[in-house]
Amino acid sequence: MKMMLAARYLGADRLEAEEIPLPVIGDEEALIQVDACGFCGSDISIIAGTHPRARAPLTVGHELCGRIVQMKSSSGSLRPGDRVTTYPLISCGDCHACTHGNPHVCRQLQLFGFDADGGMAEFVKLPVSSLMRLPEEMPGTIGALIEPLAVAVHGVSRTSLEDVQVAAVMGGGPIGLLTALVARSRGVPHVVISDILPSRLELARSLGLRAVSAGADLKNLVMELSHGDGADVLFECAGSASSAREMTSLVRSRGVIVNLGVFKKPVEIDMQAINFKEIEVLGSRVYERKDFQIAIDLAMQLPLEKIVTHSFSLRDVATAFSQFKRGKDCKVLILPGEHES
Ligand SMILES: [Zn+2]
Ligand SMILES: [Zn+2]
Repeated sequence: MKMMLAARYLGADRLEAEEIPLPVIGDEEALIQVDACGFCGSDISIIAGTHPRARAPLTVGHELCGRIVQMKSSSGSLRPGDRVTTYPLISCGDCHACTHGNPHVCRQLQLFGFDADGGMAEFVKLPVSSLMRLPEEMPGTIGALIEPLAVAVHGVSRTSLEDVQVAAVMGGGPIGLLTALVARSRGVPHVVISDILPSRLELARSLGLRAVSAGADLKNLVMELSHGDGADVLFECAGSASSAREMTSLVRSRGVIVNLGVFKKPVEIDMQAINFKEIEVLGSRVYERKDFQIAIDLAMQLPLEKIVTHSFSLRDVATAFSQFKRGKDCKVLILPGEHES
């Protein structure tokens, strides 16, 4: 039996590089040789053993890119040799969301890397229908950022940016940075981003973003730029109790709040501010397929290389994960094609 190396979640706090059999593809599937796969905040809860759906043993990873090496039949325009990423959502097809054009908020939404083996491995098998072609010249490190970039594209698409002068982004992790870059690329004159970590503010500044400490500094800057009114739109990308508490004070009357941050438990929100200022609060979960295509087309125009702060070989996946979990860095990638000497 042919074997391969994969990053396996083996139980609470156990992530190991393990030899497992090479996947055998079915008629509608393709085998992908993985170039790069990123860690995501949601991988932390899987590996901690607290994710409500993920069950060990599981190959993690849903932010991947690679090359098709095997297919049973040519399907659509894709061929072996093509560079691809995966749209990793698995929807039921029957619920209200699925039958009304919103399978990304399916009542029973599942994802590769959570509910089925993902792509942090030398190879991954995936439905051909989930694959999206990447330009040949796109580096693997950028290809692995298409999924988080699609999260940002989706978040920004939740609201019209017409007449938006000031957009505030709370949270300077990968999703916050990408959201700020997408908003800027759409022509928003003032995009402000905040975080509590100086290293993240520095990274944001190196991307040419206006970055300030969360709290008073953010509020002062937003109010200065908006002549005391507040931001036209605020993207909550921190998923923290403090950002939820403060966000309503940072937007103007009739302003919009888009929530991309994933909250692990209910938090306090100032409903009176929502009421008095008629604030519109919108959720934003994952992405639609069209957001992936927009992300693919946009990726090469953004300074994405800087967001990848570390990359590791697959053998070093446990070290890579503890580095990522410390939360001081931005994107940590696994490059399965790279072997330590
Ligand atoms: Zn992700
Ligand atoms: Zn559904």
